[in-house]
Amino acid sequence: MKNFDVVIIGGGINGCGLLRDLALNGVSALLIDKGDFSSQTSQASSKMLHGGIRYLENFDFGLVQEALEEKNLWLKLTPHLCFEREFYLPLYKYSKYLPWMLGTGLMLYDFLSHFQNRPHGMLGVEETLKTLPSIDPKGLRGAGKYYDGVVDDAKLSLECLYDALLEPQVEALSYHEVLSTTQTSDGYEVTFQNTRAPQKETVRAKYIVFTTGPFTDDLLPKLGIPWTPQLVPSKGIHLWLKPGSIEVKGSVVLTTKDNRVVFVIPQRDAILVGTTETKVDQEIFDIKATTEDVDYLLNVLQQYFPNAPLDHSSIISTFAGVRPLAREEGPANSLGKVSRHHKIYRPTSHSYVMIGGKYTTFRKMTQELAQEIVPRLGLRYKPNLTLNPLRQHSLMPTFGEKPELSVEMVKKIIETERVTTFEDLIKRRLSLLEDPHGLKEVMGIPVKEILALF
Ligand SMILES: Cc1cc2nc3c(=O)[nH]c(=O)nc-3n(C[C@H](O)[C@H](O)[C@H](O)COP(=O)(O)OP(=O)(O)OC[C@H]3O[C@@H](n4cnc5c(N)ncnc54)[C@H](O)[C@@H]3O)c2cc1C
Repeated sequence: MKNFDVVIIGGGINGCGLLRDLALNGVSALLIDKGDFSSQTSQASSKMLHGGIRYLENFDFGLVQEALEEKNLWLKLTPHLCFEREFYLPLYKYSKYLPWMLGTGLMLYDFLSHFQNRPHGMLGVEETLKTLPSIDPKGLRGAGKYYDGVVDDAKLSLECLYDALLEPQVEALSYHEVLSTTQTSDGYEVTFQNTRAPQKETVRAKYIVFTTGPFTDDLLPKLGIPWTPQLVPSKGIHLWLKPGSIEVKGSVVLTTKDNRVVFVIPQRDAILVGTTETKVDQEIFDIKATTEDVDYLLNVLQQYFPNAPLDHSSIISTFAGVRPLAREEGPANSLGKVSRHHKIYRPTSHSYVMIGGKYTTFRKMTQELAQEIVPRLGLRYKPNLTLNPLRQHSLMPTFGEKPELSVEMVKKIIETERVTTFEDLIKRRLSLLEDPHGLKEVMGIPVKEILALF
C-alpha cells in the first residue's frame, strides 16, 4: 500500500492550490478527483479576479483588500491566463446609488488595492453612450469605471497542478472517486475507484483534506467523517454570447430588479454574461443551465440593451456551477447568514475540510491550511514559495498570441497536460467555448484525427 503525508480529495482550485503549496514545502501528497481536474465549480465562475466591489456595501474591507492583493499578484504571475480590464457600472435615475456615492466607493476600491488598480473614473452620459452604444439611454445619469481581472479559471487551477507535479513526491489522479476513508491510529486509509475501469485502490495518509467545494455536505457523512452540513448552496449560470451580440467596448455591471448583479464581460472573442442565483434542486455534479436560467439572463440583457438582437441563437454555449458558500455561525437550527469568507474545519485529529471563500483568494486560503499541516509533519513551512511563477504552462495560452494547433501539438498536450477525454481537451486545455459534442473540427483539425489520439 502506498503511503503519503497528505491525501487531498477534490481537484478544483482549492485542491490544486493546496497541492502546490504542500509540494513546494516538501510534503508527499496525492490529489484525487472524481472527474477532470477543475471541471466543476472552478471552471464555472464568472472568471473574475476581483476584490468584490459589492462587498464594500457590507464594510467587508479586509476581504476586499486581501482579494485585490491576490488579483494583482496573479495578473503579474500569469499574464497568459488573465488580464486587467475596465468595468463600467451604469447609473440610472432609479439606481440605488447617487453618482457621488459610487465615486466614493470606487475611490475606496482603489485605496484598498494600495493604488495597484488602474485608477477609477466617473463618466457623463455622453461618454457612457460612446463606450456602451447599445445601452438603454432612458434615465441614464452616467457610469463609474473601475478595473478588475479576467481569468481562465480552469487553466489557472491546472497550471497550479502542473507546478505541483514537478515535485517528485507528489501524485494526482483524475477520474478516481473516493469511496471510503478508515481512521487508523496515525492517520487514514483512503479507498478510491477508477471511474472508467473496475479497479479500486487503497492508500495510507497521515492527514486527509477535503477540498470538495459544494459536494462536501453530501460526501462527508457518506465517508463516516463527523460532519453537520455547513453549506448554503446556490446555483449560478453563465452564457457565452457570439461576438457583436451586444455592442460594448468594455465590461458592464448591471443591477437587476431583484437586486442581483449581472456582468457582461467581453473576452476570448465572445461575451460572457452571468450570473444567476437560484436554489439548487437538481444533481450538482456536472450541473447544467436550464432554459429558465437562460431566459432570466436574456431578459436582464433585453432590459438594459433593448435594441440588441438577442435570442437563443446568440448563445455559443452555457455553463453552470454551485457556490460553495459557508453558513455564518448562528443559533442552532437557524439558517444563518451566508459568508463570502472561507472556513477551515478539523472534524477529526487527522482530517481537515476547507469550504467557502472565492476563487481569487485561493492562495491565501490554502496557505492557511498548509501552514497548519506542514509543521505537524515535522517540516518548516515556507510561506513565500507560492509567490514564485508557475513553472509549467499549458501549451495553448488562453489570452495573447495563440500558436497554430497541429496534430503533433495535440499529442503533446495529451501527454504532458493530464488530458483524459476529448471534452477535457476542448474545454480546459484549448479553452474553446463551443459544446465539444457538436464540433466537426478543432482549430482546423478534423475531430476524427483528434479522437484517434485518445
Ligand atoms: C456562479 C459562480 C460564479 C463565481 N464567480 C467567481 C468569480 O468571478 N471570482 C471568484 O473569485 N470566485 C467566484 N466564484 C467562486 C469560486 O468559483 C469557488 O469558490 C471555487 O471555484 C471553489 O473551488 P473548490 O476547489 O472549492 O471546488 P470545486 O472546483 O467544485 O472542486 C471540488 C472537486 O471535488 C471533486 N469531488 C467531489 N466528490 C468527490 C469524490 N467523492 N472523490 C473525489 N473527488 C470528488 C469534484 O469533482 C470537484 O472537482 C464563483 C462561483 C460560482 C458558482
